[in-house]
Amino acid sequence: KLSKRLQTIADYVKRGARVADIGSDHALLPTYLVQSGVCPSAIAGELNAGPFRAAKKQVADAGLQALITVRQGNGLAVVMPGETDTVTIAGMGGNLMSTILEEGYAAGKLDGVTELVLQPNVGEDDVRIWLLEKGWYLSHESILEEDGKIYEVLHAVSRDVQPSASSNETLYEGSFLKLPYDKEVLHRVLLRMGPHLLRQGSPVLTAKWRSEIGKLERIIAQMSASEGTESTLKAEQFRKEISIIEEVL
Ligand code: SAM
Repeated sequence: KLSKRLQTIADYVKRGARVADIGSDHALLPTYLVQSGVCPSAIAGELNAGPFRAAKKQVADAGLQALITVRQGNGLAVVMPGETDTVTIAGMGGNLMSTILEEGYAAGKLDGVTELVLQPNVGEDDVRIWLLEKGWYLSHESILEEDGKIYEVLHAVSRDVQPSASSNETLYEGSFLKLPYDKEVLHRVLLRMGPHLLRQGSPVLTAKWRSEIGKLERIIAQMSASEGTESTLKAEQFRKEISIIEEVL
């Protein structure tokens, strides 16, 4: 049985998709997807030797070597253009994730890929910014809590599948945020907190951002102990950020 986090990712993968899971570690996700019949085949990509061996072992133990290829390499370097329909990347920072996507895109590895399912551990805004800039349509977002940690899962479809969707549409659909802030601030809030997540609203989302506010407040408290205009300015900026988050929640 998959963890709630991996199951949420798996649930976004379409039946019949040829999936590549990048940074697969133990290859739990591709193993589940093939075993459950969702995917006819899969690729598990791993950069590091330890996890690569673990993935190989997992696939061999499941007797799925014929259907799941485990490959060692950096990001999307392990796939050939046109080889996959869906790319999943989970359990790493949003910054690294968007670097992997950007390098893969530049090398043509995303040609023919129609869906991305992404679960950044931190820096979700980096991923949303990349999707927006590259014209991917952010179609769903989920937020969940497991073992005291909060995870976000983003599902994006390519422009080839949703040609009508303008890149900004996904952020402003329904223009549900009616706040006394300028466009730039709203844009940043949507990218950081997630347009679908904000629209849906959930106790988990509230818990996540309450805890972020707590962190900011602790930083402000530390700053007020130190002198200097720079820290005063920074503290002011953080206070503004807190009031925006509070208003949005
Ligand atoms: N995707 C699995 C999950 O969500 O449970 C494993 C997450 S694990 C925390 C992150 C994995 O990404 C590690 O096994 C690490 O070796 C791998 N990784 C880090 N950078 C990578 C890169 N540039 N290309 C491929 N894999 C990478």
